[in-house]
Amino acid sequence: MEHIYNFSAGPAVLPREVLQQARDEMLDWHGSGMSVMEMSHRGKEFMSIAAKTEADLRELAAIPDDYKVLFLSGGASSQFAMVPMNLLRGKKSANYVNTGEWSRKAIKEAKNYCAVNVAASSEDANFTYVPAQDTWKIDPDAAYLHYTPNETIGGVEFNWIPEASRLNADMPLVADMSSSFMSRPMDVSRFGLIYAGAQKNVGPAGLCIVIVQEDLVGTTLPGTPTMFDYKIHVDNDSMYNTPPTYSMYITGLTLEWIKGKGGLEAMEKINAAKADLLYTFLDSTDFYHCPVATPDRSRMNVPFTLKDPALDEEFLKQARARGLIQLKGHRSVGGMRASIYNAMPPEGIKVLVDFMKEFANTHA
Ligand SMILES: *Cc1c(COP(=O)(O)O)cnc(C)c1O
Repeated sequence: MEHIYNFSAGPAVLPREVLQQARDEMLDWHGSGMSVMEMSHRGKEFMSIAAKTEADLRELAAIPDDYKVLFLSGGASSQFAMVPMNLLRGKKSANYVNTGEWSRKAIKEAKNYCAVNVAASSEDANFTYVPAQDTWKIDPDAAYLHYTPNETIGGVEFNWIPEASRLNADMPLVADMSSSFMSRPMDVSRFGLIYAGAQKNVGPAGLCIVIVQEDLVGTTLPGTPTMFDYKIHVDNDSMYNTPPTYSMYITGLTLEWIKGKGGLEAMEKINAAKADLLYTFLDSTDFYHCPVATPDRSRMNVPFTLKDPALDEEFLKQARARGLIQLKGHRSVGGMRASIYNAMPPEGIKVLVDFMKEFANTHA
């Protein structure tokens, strides 16, 4: 099979070494005679996998002891409801920052449970920038402040952490970190709750990782389903029901891989260099265009358009022939999108840029 570079936004590329190890352990995990898929989630083998995955995550992200880590199913999208159900704690409203499609979905879902104050929005410019914090209109009586550090579809990323507590000491910051999780160091103590679907940067679909400050857990809206109550999952170490065991295992292998690369500081350096290579090229030509404001460009998802959209199909076809796949942009934005998560090797960006140069030269 020819070598391919997969630029999918998610489910996305995983480290080759991780997939090779999973292959080697597929039929017989560590002499157990079983595949991880066949193990009881309460057996000692899987319990050891779960414990190591959590320990590695805590170590890599320097998660403080008063934070709980949960491994849940239902994807990041379930958190759009679970967050208000658990974090309103008697309050009637929540602050949301609207920077794109994923923010919008979170807002829409939250409106089923509370009043939503949209503290800031970049909808006026088709979600191509991050609104500066001094323009935000925060409701000080709201329960929390929710934002999306990296908008996967628009390719807009916060390079700073909002300061909710400066405006109200009792306002936890909530982040949908799905597409930038573990791509750079994060100061967990600045957040009340972080959630991330695994399938962008750390593992297969089906798993959502939640990191929550323990004092925030325990008060739910009346009628909250058992499975949507953080306290249930905290009290049962994410084993109230069957968690997505195989996804947890692959995530564990990916975290080990990140450790082997030198941890989150090292990942950040690699990711910054990859993104820089691509953006520097995009800015050097008027054949391609990236619509996102320069300081807010995502290191994970790089949207770009061709000068002549009539060439889109030909671009994708020739890219595919070179082994550069899944570059088609999201239908709401058009053009192209290169998702360059942790597991995309720097070589993949070089091959992409070389191809883009050549395509521009032959079609200018
Ligand atoms: C992919 C994504 C989601 C949705 O994740 P699911 O696991 O499909 O529910 C939510 N937020 C962001 C930022 C995403 O990138």
